[in-house]
Amino acid sequence: MMDYNKIWESVLDKIKEITTQISFETWFLPLKIRRIDQDLNIVYIEVNSDNRSEFIITTIKNRYLSTLETSFKEVLSDSFRVVLKDSDQYKSEEVKEEPKIKPKKQLLDKEKIFNPRFNFENFVVGNSNKYAHAAALAVAESPSEAYNPLFIYGGSGLGKTHLMHAIGIYLLENNPKLNVLYVSSEMFTNELIKALNTHKMNEFKSKYRKADVLLIDDIQFLEGKESTQEEFFHTFNSLYDSNKQIIISSDKAPNKLVNLEERLRSRFQWNLIADIQPADYETRVAILLKKAENMGINTDENPEIYDVACMIAEKIKDNIRELEGALIRVVSFSQLLNEKLDKNFTKRTLKDIFSNVERTVTPEKIKKTVCKYYGIKITDIESSKKTNNIAFPRQIAMYLIREMTDYSLPKIGQFFGGKHYTTVLYACEKIDDELSMDKNLREVIENIKEEIKD
Ligand code: ADP
Ligand code: MG
Repeated sequence: MMDYNKIWESVLDKIKEITTQISFETWFLPLKIRRIDQDLNIVYIEVNSDNRSEFIITTIKNRYLSTLETSFKEVLSDSFRVVLKDSDQYKSEEVKEEPKIKPKKQLLDKEKIFNPRFNFENFVVGNSNKYAHAAALAVAESPSEAYNPLFIYGGSGLGKTHLMHAIGIYLLENNPKLNVLYVSSEMFTNELIKALNTHKMNEFKSKYRKADVLLIDDIQFLEGKESTQEEFFHTFNSLYDSNKQIIISSDKAPNKLVNLEERLRSRFQWNLIADIQPADYETRVAILLKKAENMGINTDENPEIYDVACMIAEKIKDNIRELEGALIRVVSFSQLLNEKLDKNFTKRTLKDIFSNVERTVTPEKIKKTVCKYYGIKITDIESSKKTNNIAFPRQIAMYLIREMTDYSLPKIGQFFGGKHYTTVLYACEKIDDELSMDKNLREVIENIKEEIKD
């Protein structure tokens, strides 16, 4: 089980740093964690029912919800929604509800809090991340022997923190005595500042230098922070010299960390650098299905979940956190509203995401939709066939790419088997002319556009 007290203490520490003493005592001290739902990523916060509880709840909801959520995110390395109720409300609900959360093993030492969801089993391996995954697993299996330091980099929401936690969890499962230290660079910086202010630098130093394995997340945060870099450099060297494993993550490749001292940057180049690329479509679907299973949805009993996963994976491409967020939203809403989770429900629930399509309208999609509408093949539209049943749809497709994307005329020509830009220009002008006269064509174009955006 998670140690809620310990987590809450850490969260309070964070909050203390960013609010005044008086609001800290008035609003945050009376709270505690009731429970944490790790499948839905919800933290349930409780206030003792008394004559002030309603007031506290309203104030927190109106003013401090994001403070709470940000602090939980820092402590748990994952986004959680915060739900706030008084103890009586919880009690009356729990009488109705049977406890459905299966207890999960939680690794929680004094300093390290690993999210048990972020283990290797839950990490879906695809082309985009197989290299980073293999490196992480190798390091988890043989720390200080496989690759040291291991440097993992990739864009936001692509699984860096997940892999770091997976390494930590794996190491501790196999060797609970190992001193595994996980810290985000932000936490490292804050701790350093605190240590400096309270004259506790020796403690700080020895804490980090005693680690057998140091996982430091989001190193890009150290850019431009000279004294933290200095301290980290010494920590790094001391650990490295005594053959301790170091794992670093970053949202940029080491040579792109321009505001990091050269000597640190070159240290990172010493051993393995593994990147994570945005996941391809199949991996995105696989991640969603895995996540759905973890949320207790049986994919055999609910075949619609495949459609839902495909739909979300088509729309959200470059951030797995957002991908999961969308799934969590549809699943919890369908449970909340007691509605069947299918394509239609998904579309309605995620309307805002799906209407933000500008970036998902691609020339490929436009060509495909136009061809489907006119019942011809993509290869035809890309060919140089001049019969009207091919040439006209081709002109429509050119016109729509011109209108719905930012591609230049010559570039658009390339999408059609390398046509000259004057051909594209001619097509656009011709369709424009016809549209001004032909009401039916206007309707046709509108329909095709709707379909493209769908
Ligand atoms: P980063 O640290 O790179 O910003 P995270 O590790 O926090 O990203 O990942 C964001 C979310 O996406 C997490 O919930 C994580 O579990 C999930 N995720 C990322 N990659 C994968 C994957 N390959 N398989 C399963 N879940 C993944
Ligand atoms: Mg991260």
